[in-house]
Amino acid sequence: MSTSPAPNPSAIQITSVTKRYGALTAVDDVSLDVSAGSLVALLGPSGCGKTTLLRLVGGFETPDAGQIAVGGRDVTALPPQQRPSAMVFQSYALFPTMTVGENVEYGLRVRKVPRAERRARVAEALARVELDRLEAKPVTQLSGGQQQRVALARALAVAPAVLLFDEPLSNLDQALREATRRQLKALLPSLGTTSLYVTHDQQEALALADRIAVMRAGQIVELGAPEDLYRTPRTAYVARFLGGANIVEDTDLAARLAKEAPPPGQVLAVRPEHLRLASPDEPGAVSARLRARQFLGTYSEWDVEVGDTTLRLWVDPDTAVPERLAVRADRWRWVEEG
Ligand code: ATP
Repeated sequence: MSTSPAPNPSAIQITSVTKRYGALTAVDDVSLDVSAGSLVALLGPSGCGKTTLLRLVGGFETPDAGQIAVGGRDVTALPPQQRPSAMVFQSYALFPTMTVGENVEYGLRVRKVPRAERRARVAEALARVELDRLEAKPVTQLSGGQQQRVALARALAVAPAVLLFDEPLSNLDQALREATRRQLKALLPSLGTTSLYVTHDQQEALALADRIAVMRAGQIVELGAPEDLYRTPRTAYVARFLGGANIVEDTDLAARLAKEAPPPGQVLAVRPEHLRLASPDEPGAVSARLRARQFLGTYSEWDVEVGDTTLRLWVDPDTAVPERLAVRADRWRWVEEG
């Protein structure tokens, strides 16, 4: 006799979900399971459908086809406030006339949580994001980073099984974004919630996610653990999007760099950190012409031309431009073209 596993209380199950806006298919037959307590980042360029997919899970949009379940329960037809999820928005979406505490309490009022319990849960949520001292302050007197933590506390206060993040850090300057990212990374495991996290920032996805789903034109192109996707992308699209690999479509050049003929339908992916300046006589070296150089602090980025192909490589910033310039790939990977 086979026994089926007990339904997981906070796992998200997206099954064959499609969402159209007129002639445009924003989400195209997507299926995705997010296991309990884990974080999946939806990563992709603007317009690939990641926000729409998140909003479908939150109940802010209704799919044209497919089902969404949370903890084994079909929530496809439920409005947002009846779903076991809470959303953290890019814009914070705080109420400007309310205090910090009132903002955090809002979701609990909507859910008709009794007053005494509301007080306790507001205090606990604010403590988690280290804002307990600011509870009585008007929310407009807080910095952007603090406001985003209020928005997070508001989501945490309703103790959701699922947290939905819509580019939560993209309105913050870089230093604050990184600091808040670290706080989130430290906080999330202790909550035990399951998270879906939309971002177009690959570093954020790499740093926070247990798995990354890279999207393109409404579909998930590849899904995997950050290190696996980064090191062994299957497609040129993911190799390019995650870490900006050079994609060499010229089969002759690809064969020279890889020292082997391209497999059918495959192109060469070489990361900028895996290309280096070489002596023109070295095996695998190809002569190149310098097109542009940018000093970026810890390294310089050089764009070099080989025939019609431009290759980008990272070079020690103290390196002088050699008289006879050649490059060589130390590591590379064959990936599906397109
Ligand atoms: P961004 O990072 O720019 O938000 P995204 O990957 O999140 O991009 P979506 O916002 O999900 O992309 O949009 C996917 C596609 O659906 C886009 O072409 C967008 O123009 C379209 N779209 C989204 N919402 C609507 C809507 N309410 N009405 C019509 N089209 C929409």
